[in-house]
Amino acid sequence: MGKSSKDKRDAYYRLAKEQGWRARSAFKLLQLDEEFNLFEGVTRVVDLCAAPGSWSQVLSRVLIKGEKIGRAGWEDKRAREKLESHGQTTTISGHGHELEAKQQLQPRENVKIVAIDLQPMSPLEGIVTMRADITHPSTIPLLLKALDPETFDPSSVQASHPVDLVISDGAPDVTGLHDLDTYVQSQLLWAALNLALCVLKPGGKFVAKIFRGKDVDLLYAQLKIVFERVRVAKPRSSRASSVEAFVVCTGFRPPKGFKASLENPLGAGTQLQVPEEMKLEKTLPSRTLRSDGIAELELGSEDEEESKDIRWIAPFLACGDLSAYDADASYHLPKDHVVLDPVQPPTAPPYRKALEMRKTAGGAYGKTKLG
Ligand code: SAM
Repeated sequence: MGKSSKDKRDAYYRLAKEQGWRARSAFKLLQLDEEFNLFEGVTRVVDLCAAPGSWSQVLSRVLIKGEKIGRAGWEDKRAREKLESHGQTTTISGHGHELEAKQQLQPRENVKIVAIDLQPMSPLEGIVTMRADITHPSTIPLLLKALDPETFDPSSVQASHPVDLVISDGAPDVTGLHDLDTYVQSQLLWAALNLALCVLKPGGKFVAKIFRGKDVDLLYAQLKIVFERVRVAKPRSSRASSVEAFVVCTGFRPPKGFKASLENPLGAGTQLQVPEEMKLEKTLPSRTLRSDGIAELELGSEDEEESKDIRWIAPFLACGDLSAYDADASYHLPKDHVVLDPVQPPTAPPYRKALEMRKTAGGAYGKTKLG
């Protein structure tokens, strides 16, 4: 396989390297922002599952540097086509941001951004990076302290809700077993949501990756209880062939008396009082914790009226301009195409140990067994 084949197969992978993003996921956030104006009025953000850091780069460039980033690559595509039709080369040199750099900067004041991941993350200007597990209760005080190191009071963690926007692109290491991957991903999503509930200001926003599995409408229903507006979006840079999508929730409105906590987290099916104005069933189904710790939903059968009532289908939006690159298409590359290295090689990839062992063993078929 040629060195440029991934560039050909994945336009966003190639664009990310050309525009200086650590991962192609940057375009997903940019396209979501294009549709939902996510960053409007936002200065305090928590980026969960942030490594290698392309979403944090977007935050840094939009909020801290005040850049107005062009339409997530499609302007770039048009610029290329224009150049190509004039017979000029289209090389965008190195990892620079030449296309956007000409725009006027409008930095915001008092911006605070905390990025959290299990993996170490290379530093980014103006961003506090933390190596922590988003499912663990101890992460919340750590992150509140990182946001306000001078005023942080460990005794009032529960009362502290200083965050405008929580974003989460969390994904477990994929096993290829679809049901297992979907399940583990949903657990990460619930962890992100629970953390968001603990730190968001009323009116705050929550954006998170989901895999659209079987019971995803239960999740929408629960999100609808705590947020005024819930949408599901599929950015054009997310492959149509993947079950990945993003929930975009705005207008955080914790129900009266509701106290979020990671010790007693909200999960699929936890009972929450539904506000009167919502024309849904009064409570969501309860969950039973099995002895192995897995939560089971107590749902009626598919055709029971009751089970239909607890579901709520979130409006679905495809976002990103139609003239943007298609994430599932292969593109012809110009003859003078230069293959760039990734902007940020993984800091602690899980395969590093295996590679080292293979090297020691003298190649793929060495005598030492791996693992
Ligand atoms: N948004 C990132 C970006 O733009 O560069 C990409 C995120 S990557 C798809 C998913 C990340 O989730 C991985 O870096 C992984 O380490 C992280 N992750 C998975 N489980 C986690 C957990 N329990 N706590 C914190 N991070 C976690």
